[in-house]
Parts: sequence; structure tokens; C-alpha cells
Amino acid sequence: MKALIIVDMLNDFVTGSLKCERAQRIIPHIRDLMSSFHKHKLPVIFVNDSHLDTDFEMERWGAHAIEGTEGAEVIPELTPEKDDIIIGKHVYSSFFETPLDSILRSRKVDTVILTGLHTHLCVRHTAADAFFRGYKIQIPEDCVDSFTKEDHQSGLEYLKEYYAANITKADAIIKDLKK
Ligand code: ZN
Repeated sequence: MKALIIVDMLNDFVTGSLKCERAQRIIPHIRDLMSSFHKHKLPVIFVNDSHLDTDFEMERWGAHAIEGTEGAEVIPELTPEKDDIIIGKHVYSSFFETPLDSILRSRKVDTVILTGLHTHLCVRHTAADAFFRGYKIQIPEDCVDSFTKEDHQSGLEYLKEYYAANITKADAIIKDLKK
């Protein structure tokens, strides 16, 4: 069983205080994956920064994705549907002190499709924790990105090398679901 995980596709990360121009490129591909997962009734899980202004990360990045603000909401292009799961997180990893692992296990998920921002940061740390917990990892390279091309590419290399991530594309995953 596969689950689609969408990390930090929030207003602050795409158009707000931590704006990333390169995020525009991945939005349509994540949308395609979302609708394919919905069609196949597979889990779509948003894991979103939902910070308190006292979180440790504020020192490094400044205020971003503060719980309850518009900046912490999923971008309008990817608005979650009724049955989608939304989880808040306080650090880079989507697993750290969140219910993600138990949600995946209760649905018999063995493979996670990681999408969103940033390839070398929250996606990478989420992949680490997925790998430590025995999940297979697929990364559609057209559904993740970073502030720079270099960070994105070195991020992909790292994911492939150390977490045995299958680097693929949205279309290939969609085709696979149709089989
Ligand atoms: Zn954060």
C-alpha cells in the first residue's frame, strides 16, 4: 500500500516569508498525483509546519508557518479534500513527535511517496525517519524542490544514496497505480 505525503506546501513556503520561486514548477505534478491517489482511494497526507513562535527553528529561519495564520495553510492550488489527513509538525521531519507513523501503519502502508519542500531539508529528514522505520521511499523528482537547483540535486543524490529512495516522476507513479 502506498501513501502520498505532501510536505510543507504552505503559503509561507511558496509565496510568503520563506518564498521559493522553484516551488511553482512542482505544483501541477503534485496536483496530478493527488487526483490519482484520490481516484484509487489511497491515503493523501499533508504534513505541515505548524509552529509556535517559541519553536527552536525560529532562530534559524525567523517566523514562518505560525499555527493558525494564513502562512501555515496549504496553498490554494493543493487544497486538501475531505478525507485527506492533515498533520502538524514542529521540526524538519514529518515523523518527529507526530502521529504519522501510526497513521501509516494502521493503513498497512509500506511505501511512502514523498513530495513538497525542500528536497534537501524537510523531505530529506522525513525520508531519514521513513527509512529508519522500514518504509520504502519513492521521490518523484518533479514533485520536490529547494531554493536552489544545487540544493535540489544534491538532496536527490543523498536520498538515493543513503535512503535507497527510488527517484522517479509523477507520471511513472500514476501509471503504476493504474496497473
Ligand atoms: Zn519550520
